[in-house]
Amino acid sequence: MGTPTAPQESPDGRWAAPNYNPLPVTLTAAEGSWVTDDEGRRLLDLLSAYSALNFGHRHPALVAAAKAQLDLVTLTSRAFGNDRLPLFCERLAALCGQEMVLPMNTGAEAVETAIKAARRWGMLRRGVPDGEAEIIVCDGNFHGRTTTIVGFSTDPEAREGFGPFGPGFTVVPFGDAAAMAAAVTPRTVAVLVEPIQGEAGVRIPPDGYLRAVRELCDDAGILLVADEIQSGLGRTGRTFACDHEGVRPDAYLLGKALGGGIVAVSAVVGSADMLGVLTAGRHGSTFGGNPLSCAVGLAVLDLLESDEPQRQATAMGEVLACRLAALPRHHVTAVRARGLWAGVDLAPSLGPARALCEELMRRRVLVKDTHGSTIRIAPPLNIQRHDLDWACDRLIEALDALAERSAR
Ligand code: PLP
Repeated sequence: MGTPTAPQESPDGRWAAPNYNPLPVTLTAAEGSWVTDDEGRRLLDLLSAYSALNFGHRHPALVAAAKAQLDLVTLTSRAFGNDRLPLFCERLAALCGQEMVLPMNTGAEAVETAIKAARRWGMLRRGVPDGEAEIIVCDGNFHGRTTTIVGFSTDPEAREGFGPFGPGFTVVPFGDAAAMAAAVTPRTVAVLVEPIQGEAGVRIPPDGYLRAVRELCDDAGILLVADEIQSGLGRTGRTFACDHEGVRPDAYLLGKALGGGIVAVSAVVGSADMLGVLTAGRHGSTFGGNPLSCAVGLAVLDLLESDEPQRQATAMGEVLACRLAALPRHHVTAVRARGLWAGVDLAPSLGPARALCEELMRRRVLVKDTHGSTIRIAPPLNIQRHDLDWACDRLIEALDALAERSAR
């Protein structure tokens, strides 16, 4: 038995389970890159709900699409057809250069769906005996919170106490294509990888890694499944992070920004060969593919097809990377950035990154720590340049304040 932990009261009130530890700020309204708290203070959002708000809070076109659909039909279940779903699937497949879309709701559901499809594909197409399929994943991965998914996490906090976990996953070092190739067996059906690891602190693999993974999957005749739930849909300056290496996976996993910050929309977008194995009755979701989600998703696709979010991410990403590169090295030990997405590692002398988040919050900038000593910066892609500069000035002040405090 592990050490018993005392019941902990949630910062979200006596009745909320304590599974989050939010910064002490209560938001009541939001627009674009700015949010308002219950004391009327305006704060700049540099987290974007972990990239679910790539297009900012309450983007007018997305809100209009949701409002229009609310007056028509919101939920049909998949027991009946709805007029938004075929169009959404067609346009999302086209954006991805793929053949089929399986819509779900949360990111974790998209991951679970891909695991099921890959295993069944392996059985039907590759002759891997039922129940023996293996999927290769990477250390430091974050693919969600279901028991199957945390079962192959390498983060003890995500796993402890939640077993027993099922077999069928092989963990290899992230960024090491040779280790991945060595892990392939006759029972391997797929590789599941984040092209850039977000929760791990915006970990970017070496150049050529994704191309090498694509090649080894082709050679072995296995599926490459790219989890672009956080990295995709404009965040890195391209529609997908895989685009930076000209790689097309066999399936993209999408979520977060696909729902425009309004509804939970996720999807597996892949080949007909892979998704075709999920025939009627083998998989489903009460809410997946509902007309409200599809209507908002279609408006998201309008934005992405314009290429404007991708261009904004590239332009503002250059500003951010420049400002972060100029941070004093005694405060910051490493900066990783791609598009408008950055991980900043703090010097151990400054203490945990949570303290920096609190300093920034006092200065009206919201960011989130990850893995103790890293902050992740992921502003809405349409952030104004002067707002981004203002936030970077606050970051310098907050780092100085922490350094002063730790020197005392
Ligand atoms: N995959 C990745 C790469 C993620 O970053 C996340 C969430 O942060 C998920 C999957 C899970 O998404 P959700 O929280 O919507 O289940």
